[in-house]
Amino acid sequence: MKITFWGAARTVTGSMHHLQVDGKNYLLDCGLYQGRRKDAEHRNRDLPFPARSIEAVVLSHAHIDHSGNLPTLVRNGFDGPIYTTPPTVDLCQSMLRDTAHIQESDTKFVNKRLERRHRSGGEMVEPLYTMEDAEKTLPLLRPVKYHTPQQVGASFSYQAYDAGHMLGSSAVVLEVEGQRLIFSGDVGRVHLPILRDPEVMPTADYLIMESTYGDRLHKDEGLVADRLADVINRTAARGGKIIVPAFAVGRTQQLVLLLHELTDRNRIPRIPLFVDSPLAVNVTDAFRKNSDYFDAETRAYLLNNGDPFGFKMLTYIREAAESKKLNDLHGPFVVISASGMCEAGRILHHLRNNIEDPRNTVLITGFQAENTLGRKLVEKWPEVNIFGEPMRVRAEVASLLELSGHADQRELIEWLAPVSPNLKKIFLVHGEPPAQQALAKLIEERYRIPVAIPARGESFNPGL
Ligand SMILES: [Zn+2]
Repeated sequence: MKITFWGAARTVTGSMHHLQVDGKNYLLDCGLYQGRRKDAEHRNRDLPFPARSIEAVVLSHAHIDHSGNLPTLVRNGFDGPIYTTPPTVDLCQSMLRDTAHIQESDTKFVNKRLERRHRSGGEMVEPLYTMEDAEKTLPLLRPVKYHTPQQVGASFSYQAYDAGHMLGSSAVVLEVEGQRLIFSGDVGRVHLPILRDPEVMPTADYLIMESTYGDRLHKDEGLVADRLADVINRTAARGGKIIVPAFAVGRTQQLVLLLHELTDRNRIPRIPLFVDSPLAVNVTDAFRKNSDYFDAETRAYLLNNGDPFGFKMLTYIREAAESKKLNDLHGPFVVISASGMCEAGRILHHLRNNIEDPRNTVLITGFQAENTLGRKLVEKWPEVNIFGEPMRVRAEVASLLELSGHADQRELIEWLAPVSPNLKKIFLVHGEPPAQQALAKLIEERYRIPVAIPARGESFNPGL
């Protein structure tokens, strides 16, 4: 067995690990790399191996940084099975189509500008992949339930465990030539709305482990529902609007469920709630279809109260024209829209229309990366640019970061405990170097297990 780390190596995006077993090639994840435009273009487009040589892919979960480059693999000739959990298959239907749509429309926009510049017909850019490539990828997805051993090659099988990170997310236990290798995927947290807690993992010989929050501890700021109710109540009392940037997949459904519960219990006034995102609409249908995978609380809710993602005060908005109508509507109301870091999409229009009014609140619900508009809002910049125009931030900015889907340092160390007794080596992936170094140090002190932090393209032969 040989492992080569091609993505999420000393960074948090583009998860992709190449496994060679018995002279055959397999991939763990095939995610989209997001970073500086030039790097991203090259890394996503130029695969470091022939796509045709890959026999099969095992996919940990639907997030685009894990699944989003599968259509490039298919575009380059891969036609083998992509094994993953049933909810991940359903989520990928809308997420991969959505990503293909973005690739196509971004390219169209760039080409239009190029055309205007060189009327004679200069070089045009091509999308990373098209809707057709995405459509060819979807039938290759093979649903395999948690705890169902799946044979992948002659001496290679795996079983998925619930990682508690998003609906259908898995930590993958691989049995390769008599050795056990675990790939953590993204490790979640206990008590997240909708999701089951991360499962207790078995022992293993080798571990590929994520390290996003390897140097951080999540703050415990009390119950998320209480804090959400406070924000809604004080904004509603001012007659303001609550603008919530949120990832369409996962975070939006968690917020809808929390707001549904708060409304039922009369802990917040009956104000309208809008989910303004076509992707969120489609993904919510995939959630409804996979209620078997919810945690016990959400299943009980479903039984007693009906659809957790639909209630009288809630409207889902698909069309842009409907979204624009919200501009003329008076508060109080809540609008949840993407993108989660306020970098693109409809949320920018809502921010532009509402950020200068002190009655309103912008409610941040997830990690905001450096240089994003969301980060500037969290850091309380007095003025920000939206669509190139300077705007004064007079709305309240509140944060609700308890919904983070990633384990922090203490939770990662706890997740590792049952895996650790016979571990020979840990490979840390999916983290920025300072987070990885901090976590490596702690693991070496606590468990006395050697830790490697592989660079992109680095290979290891475990067992040799
Ligand atoms: Zn993830």
